Formats: sequence, structure tokens, C-alpha cells
Amino acid sequence: MRSVVWNVRVEGIVQGVGFRPFVYRLATEYGLSGTVLNDSQGVLIHVEGDVVGAEAFVAALESEAPPLALISRVAVVSVAPLGFSDFTIVASTESTRGETQIAPDAASCKDCLAEMSAVTDRRFAYPFINCTNCGPRYSIVTGVPYDRSATTMAEFPMCPSCLKEYHDPLSRRFHAQPNACPVCGPVLSFSDARGRVVGGVDPLREAVKMLGQGGIVAIKGLGGYHLAVDATDAAAVVRLRQRKHRDEKPFALMVSDLTAIEQIARLSPLEERLLCGVERPIVLLARRAEAGIAESVAPGNTFWGVMLPYTPLHSLLLQDFSALVMTSGNRSDEPIAFDDQQALNRLDGIADGYLSHNRRIQRRTEDSIVRVIDQQPLVLRRSRGYVPRSIRLASGQPAVLALGAELKNTICLTRSDCAFISHHLGDLKNRDALDAQHQAITDLQNLLDSPPSIIAHDLHPDFVSSRSAIALDGRSVSVQHHHAHLVSCMVDNGVDELALGVVFDGAGYGIDDTLWGGEFLLGDYREFERVAHFDPVALPGGDAAVKEPWRMAASYLIKTYGDDSLPKMSCFANRSSELQLLRQMVKRGINAPLTSSCGRLFDAVAALAGLRAKVSYEGQAALALEMALPDDAEHFEGYPFAVVKYAAGLKIDADPLIRELVSDLNNNISSSIVSARFHNGLATMIAQVCRLLRKTYGPVPVALSGGVFQNRYLTERTLNLLRADDFRVLVHRQVPPNDGGLSLGQAVIAGHSVPPKAC
Ligand code: ZN
Ligand code: ZN
Ligand code: FE
Repeated sequence: MRSVVWNVRVEGIVQGVGFRPFVYRLATEYGLSGTVLNDSQGVLIHVEGDVVGAEAFVAALESEAPPLALISRVAVVSVAPLGFSDFTIVASTESTRGETQIAPDAASCKDCLAEMSAVTDRRFAYPFINCTNCGPRYSIVTGVPYDRSATTMAEFPMCPSCLKEYHDPLSRRFHAQPNACPVCGPVLSFSDARGRVVGGVDPLREAVKMLGQGGIVAIKGLGGYHLAVDATDAAAVVRLRQRKHRDEKPFALMVSDLTAIEQIARLSPLEERLLCGVERPIVLLARRAEAGIAESVAPGNTFWGVMLPYTPLHSLLLQDFSALVMTSGNRSDEPIAFDDQQALNRLDGIADGYLSHNRRIQRRTEDSIVRVIDQQPLVLRRSRGYVPRSIRLASGQPAVLALGAELKNTICLTRSDCAFISHHLGDLKNRDALDAQHQAITDLQNLLDSPPSIIAHDLHPDFVSSRSAIALDGRSVSVQHHHAHLVSCMVDNGVDELALGVVFDGAGYGIDDTLWGGEFLLGDYREFERVAHFDPVALPGGDAAVKEPWRMAASYLIKTYGDDSLPKMSCFANRSSELQLLRQMVKRGINAPLTSSCGRLFDAVAALAGLRAKVSYEGQAALALEMALPDDAEHFEGYPFAVVKYAAGLKIDADPLIRELVSDLNNNISSSIVSARFHNGLATMIAQVCRLLRKTYGPVPVALSGGVFQNRYLTERTLNLLRADDFRVLVHRQVPPNDGGLSLGQAVIAGHSVPPKAC
């Protein structure tokens, strides 16, 4: 048998995830001698032994890697033998700063949950049990290298039993940085509504009791505080809505197990896998009619946002409830509270009690949201469980810090050929979110040790992030919003070539100073051309038009029929003076900027169809229209658009659509058929425009991006039509199609921008 001596270099998320003990077991299993160690680039393995065993060993490194490991590269080189007689784990000596990656927070593993429910185990019912395969990571890291002293567990010295596990290469807790037990680790506490700690009680039992009596309990989780109520208690859910000032936006549910989920929602095998994954996101599921869940959890919604328990504390709580509402601990639109004092201040008057603990949360990470579209997962909010996992770029580029969009903000920092997108930071108009962004900027640079030479920001001159860009060191590059969406989708799919972006969203600043949002952009990482777009209409009242879709309905009617012959529509009932004012605004062009936004067309249609004249949260009208779709939606003929050629490309005119829609409504056609015809018309128009553009520009992949493509029916219908026409279609997967994914596109575009020549 031929002998080999190899150095095997493994890169990716390979530290703090039980990789070295795994390598040790594997090497022993294949009869190899040598060493394994952590260094600044990841893990370095030296193996000596027969070629068959060594090859099998290398193959198994990837195929059998521990659950939290994410291998980005394995490289093997032959080296001189060092003559080892056995295999050992070598302690890291050098600093592991540099190329290594921090793992995201992970849901409790089966082994830990089994120990937690074993009466004889020393961690029986211990709510902070974890091991190298599970537990907190990103939310407790205070610095690099990833080591206990650089986490919020630093203040808990390990007891002898925990230390023994920590130093035992064969233990599941070997170098598990958050390792803890009831003797040495964090403990729970329960406080009353005023924030006074209640002594002499079992905190968990106290919280369970309060929830059982319909109380609202603030619960400290992995990345922040949730507000919880029993989801089957209608009165409790309504009380939570009142106190939180949240009228209709759906609440997320935490459900005890898969069997309980099947009672309330229909579940595909893929959705089941997503629910059970280590990321443990909220998954959007089609709800069952008779679910036993209070209607006020998601009023009028055909979906539930459902997640399984992901911390040991959640698992303990859900032993007493089939489903809890678990919504972000905040007042209406603030970011989730994660600091103990801040939670007490912010949730004062909302929570009846607090189930807290003394392990500090270093950074806020909200629950992630995933939806299945075209039988693949699509991440709608990428935060806990996914962050800070990197996105691989097609090639290396200079380090860029991208500041993202105004809404659903994330930032992105690149290092060589990896892009790191931050956790969800929220709406930057909110002071807390802006502070969080500033923290995240410093934080990400420290963790990645990657000082950016370029700062990317949105083209919009009034965005706060455009202003922060000026204050940061580095060459500042402004990026058009929809170009960033297009490139974000390309990077998400590993595509670096010319592509046609169909970018439909609410709004973004265009290069002609109007608001864009219904765009066909032909472009690559460097530049783009606007080859087709919706014919712009007035946005009467600016932001007011976003909150009141009836305004968009009026605007579209004025455009289609002219100001003096507006058809009477139900959404204008009792609004005659407001309508009068709006017509003046549009006529005189006062506070009525032009927009080509497809999101606003959804608003107009939803309002005309009588679904929504006003909204209480962003995207609600579009969601209402999607949920109004009948089961046999595909059988209805789509509304027509007019596609007209003009000097600067193709213009898409919705006039014919509006006329037919108004005629349908006058004939008492139901809103659900109107919705079907609208969706189908949109998909048909996209395919038609793509075909026309292909004639001029040749075949290129089509990328669907922008918040509108969170709509499952529209995305699937468009995909089917385009595929039937032999288009290669790219849709988002790892990165949201909405503005949460924007920072990635900005970072790559700025990374490919040419610096201005020095004079
Ligand atoms: Zn575990
Ligand atoms: Zn201990
Ligand atoms: Fe957008």
C-alpha cells in the first residue's frame, strides 16, 4: 500500500464548531497519524498514512462535517513526513485573527435536548445547555479570536466538571465556548411589570403561570426580547396588539413541535426541513382553517409565520403550551430590545412580567423569515441563524463597506471574495436603528479585521446613510437602488455576466431624479442601462400615498381617464373633499413626484378592488391582493398592458389594465378574480417585454429582484412563462429580494467601480 504525507487546509466556518475533535475522530477511524490545529486561515491538518485511508479521510471532511461547520475550501498538498506515531490535537498558539469566520447562532441540538430532559443528567432542565453543535455564537461574541474570553460568557468561570469537558477532545463540549451548567452558568430571573425581581420563585414556572392566565411576558431570547402570549387566548392576543400599538401586522408563532404545526398549517417536506434546520427561521406556512389559534394573531391572513423553539429555554416553555405568540419586544416599529435595561424602559406598560437571565446579548439579531417559492427556500429576512455567514463572490475585490437601503437596512462588508451581510437593522428613519447601524459598522470591521477602502451608499441624496458615507474614511461610491437589486440577485446566484434585471419594488431614487420601482435594467457589476420601465404616475402626497393606497387608485384613474371624467369607485366613498385636494395636487404637480413603482400599482389595484384603502404597515395592500388570489388563479386571462417603444427604450403603460379592471368592478366581478387577472397580466407582460428585449440585446439571463418578488404566485407564474420561452431565470435564495439584500449589490458594484483619475 502506498503511503502519503499531506497537509490539508480547510477554510470556512471551522472554528468553534467542534471541527478539531471531528478531525481527530475521523483520522483515528482511518488509521492516520498526524496533527490538527486552528490557525488564522481556518484549520490545518497534517496526515500520514496509506493513500486509501487518506483519500477517504479528505472526502469525509466535507461529507461528514459537524452540523455548524461550513466549509468553503479544502486544499491538499504533499509534504515531507514528520514521523508521527499517533494523531493529536495541537493547541493554537498564534492569534486566530484574520481569515476565520464566526458561526451564526444555532438551535439546540438533539443531544443537548435529550440531556436536558434526562432527570439524572447534571443539566436536567437547565435552560442554557449547549455544546459545539449548538447554542449562541454571533449574539455573544465580543471580539476575535472566538474564545470564551471574547464572549459574554467571559463573566462565568467554568466549574471543574465543565472545564473537564471543555478540555476533553472526545467530549461534545471540547472548546464549546458558551459551555455552562447550573453550578457555573447563567441563571433565569423573573421580574414583575415594574421590573422588580421576584425572589423565592421558580422563574420559569412563574412565567408559565402568567402566560397561562393570559398575561404578556417579555422573554429574553438569543438575539433580543420577545413579547409572548398564549396564541390560543384571543383576549390576550388582542391585549398585546393594543399595548404594542400594532393593529394588524401578523405576529409570529412559536409552536411546540412538528405535530402541533401540522394541526395549524399545511406543510411540505421542504418546509419541514427549513423549520427543523439549525438556523430555525420563521417559515411562512399556508394556514389550516380550523387551527385553534386566535384569529387576531394574523388577521385576514392566509399564512402563519411559524418557528420551532430554538433555545433550551424556549423548549422548556413550550412544554406547557402548544403555541405562543413570539413577537419582537418593541413598541410598533422600533428595533427589538436586547439590552436588559432598555427592555425594561421600552416594554414598560406592555409586559406584565419579564423572564430574563444574566447572560448579556452582545448584538441584536431578530428572527429570520423564510418562504418557499418555486420549491426552493427564499430568505425574506436574513438575520438570526444566517448572520454572519458569508456569501461567496465570483472574484476577489477591494474591501467595501456598503450602507444599504433606508428601509429593512443591512450593511455589507467584503473581504477578498467573501461578502458579510449584517443582521437586520431596521428602518433608518428610526433613531435606534440608525444607532444600531453605526454600531454594526464598527463591529463588523472589528470582527472581520477588514478596513474598507470604499464606502458604497444609495444614490438618494437625502438618505441618512448617504450622509454617514461622507463621514467615513474611504472613497465614496453612490449606487443606483435598482442596479443594486439586480447585482444582489446575480451575486446570490453566482452569476458575473450581462443580465436583464426585472426589478419591481416600492421605490428607489432613479438617475433622472424620479422615483423608480418598475424597471427592466440591462447590466453587469459595473454599469446598467434602463431598457424598459413603467410609465410614471403621480405619487400624490409622497409618503402619504404609500400609507393610503386610495391615493394611488386616484392617481392611476386620473392618468387613464383624465381629471374630468373619473369613474366613481368605492374606495373614494366619503373622501370627496380629500379627492378634490388630491386632484389639485396632481394637476399642479404639488407634492406629487412621479414614480414608475410597481409596488404602487399593486396599491392602486388593491384599493380599486376594495381590499385596502389605507394600510397600517408597509406592503399590506400588495399582501392583501396576493391573499385574495383564488385557488384556480391561473385560469383567468391577464389584464393587458400596452408596451410602447420610445426614444429611451420601452415604456409599459397600465392604461388598458386600469380600463378593464374598472369595467370588471362595474360588472361586480369579485376582488379575487380581479387579483388573479392582475397577477397574470403582470407575469405575461414581464415575459413579453423580456422577449422584445431579447430581440434587441440577445439572450441573457433574467434576474427577478425587488420586494414585489416576495409574492409567491407572481414569481412562480413569471418563472414558468419565462422558462417556457427558454430564458435562464435567476431568483433570490440566500439574500432577500427586498431592500434587506440591497447592501450586497451595492458592495459588489462599488468593488468593481473605477476610481476617478488623479489629476
Ligand atoms: Zn448541543
Ligand atoms: Zn459548570
Ligand atoms: Fe428596493
